[in-house]
Amino acid sequence: MSSENASNAQTSAKEDDNQPQSSGSATEVEKEAVAAAPISVLFCDVCSFPVEYCEFGTSLTRCKEALQKSNPELFNKYYSEETLQSRMGTLSLEKQAKLEKDIAKAEKKAEKKADAAEKKKKESIVTIKRIERTKRKHVTAIHGLEAFDIQLKPVAKYFAQRFATGASVTKNAQGQDEIVVQGDVADDILEMIEEGKVKLLKGVPSDNVELVEDKKKKAAEEEE
Ligand SMILES: [Zn+2]
Repeated sequence: MSSENASNAQTSAKEDDNQPQSSGSATEVEKEAVAAAPISVLFCDVCSFPVEYCEFGTSLTRCKEALQKSNPELFNKYYSEETLQSRMGTLSLEKQAKLEKDIAKAEKKAEKKADAAEKKKKESIVTIKRIERTKRKHVTAIHGLEAFDIQLKPVAKYFAQRFATGASVTKNAQGQDEIVVQGDVADDILEMIEEGKVKLLKGVPSDNVELVEDKKKKAAEEEE
């Protein structure tokens, strides 16, 4: 009895197994499901990621080899020379965009800085001070030229030659650089700046230049 029962069970089990295979409609459904699935997700045999994410795993070389064998079409899609090049192109485009952004930023900053410098220049004053040392002796002190990007030493040298006198760059009482020229050349220097013909003094607007008479020093200097 028991062996009969067993054989019956086996038979019925075999019949159950055979049922889906013999049914044509079920096979069609399965085929459709199988055909639709790989397009959306195909998992890598090596790293088990979806194949397009193999690069994020640690076995890309083996993944690529496996995919090249199992699915050359997909392999070409992801790893062909062309694909890699177009990806590189995207990367450099991104870099370019960032670079352009950086440049624009730097330009804006420079512009701002230039504006600030321009504003500062407009507010800067050059003073040409006629200082009376004694009844007959004067010196002329020019202060503030550096705000207009004027190199003081060459200008001092130029004044010395031009006026055949002594001229030097020294620090004033406030610790600021100024050009001191021996003799009363204040009017000449003012004229020079107004005319704008002296290359070394170019860029100094005459509106920003003021002539100052310093007679207070006279008493102090005479006491020395
Ligand atoms: Zn992989």
